[in-house]
Amino acid sequence: MSTPRSVQEQLAARPKGTRLSTLRYLTFEVNKTCNLASVHPRCPVSDPERFMFGETDYVLTDSLILAFWQFCVKEGFRGVVLWHLYNEPTAELARIRRLLTAMRSEVPSQRTHLWTNSPGAVGLPEFDHVQLTDYRVVRPEELDNRRASTRGEGAAYDKVAESGSCGRGFGWEIIVDFHANWLLCCNDWRCEQAVGNLVGSVWDLLLEKYEREAQIKWDSRKSYEALPRMCRSCIEVNPNLHRSALPPKGVVL
Ligand code: SF4
Repeated sequence: MSTPRSVQEQLAARPKGTRLSTLRYLTFEVNKTCNLASVHPRCPVSDPERFMFGETDYVLTDSLILAFWQFCVKEGFRGVVLWHLYNEPTAELARIRRLLTAMRSEVPSQRTHLWTNSPGAVGLPEFDHVQLTDYRVVRPEELDNRRASTRGEGAAYDKVAESGSCGRGFGWEIIVDFHANWLLCCNDWRCEQAVGNLVGSVWDLLLEKYEREAQIKWDSRKSYEALPRMCRSCIEVNPNLHRSALPPKGVVL
């Protein structure tokens, strides 16, 4: 019987051109403001530490977005393009439409969702789905939790589940922020675990790094303690954000 291959070996065995075939979402933060920023003073959108560890010299241009989308499509991406991180994307609706037209001229089936606080956007025909969310009424505490995870080292191993994983890393989503930083996940708004910046980088190498580093899993004290600080802290304070790193029933964090 053959020995099961490690995740690293399985990843290394995947041929070029298929490496993003399981990616669900490709997100571009097309602007960095939100009309409700003053209503949610704890949202990362207006946090002074936003982009703290990332690049801020560059801005995500249309040509950069299209070139990176093409790169992802060549790597097998068939998922959904998104336009929000903590921004309100309808402020850039004309830009989004322009980008969508360009994408669909190459891939007519390219799907896209709009996540917005604007009731006027519901039913816009160019989007496959419009998610209307008003954090004044829907889980406002989730935005607060994201700030809480910027501090601390997370709970001790004895206090978390013996093993777990987070589905927000590899295979779930690639997020590129307003300054072209490729983030680990939406909790990475300070760019603490950013894979790199799209400007001036070899994207093949960034993808290899992402494949290696976005596997957020543990099954021992050693592997838990080797997780990024941000992830250990997120696992402790933000159980709604990561998908499968929840402790088993009966374990109190
Ligand atoms: S554990 Fe939290 S910070 Fe780490 S990848 Fe998952 S959602 Fe992001």
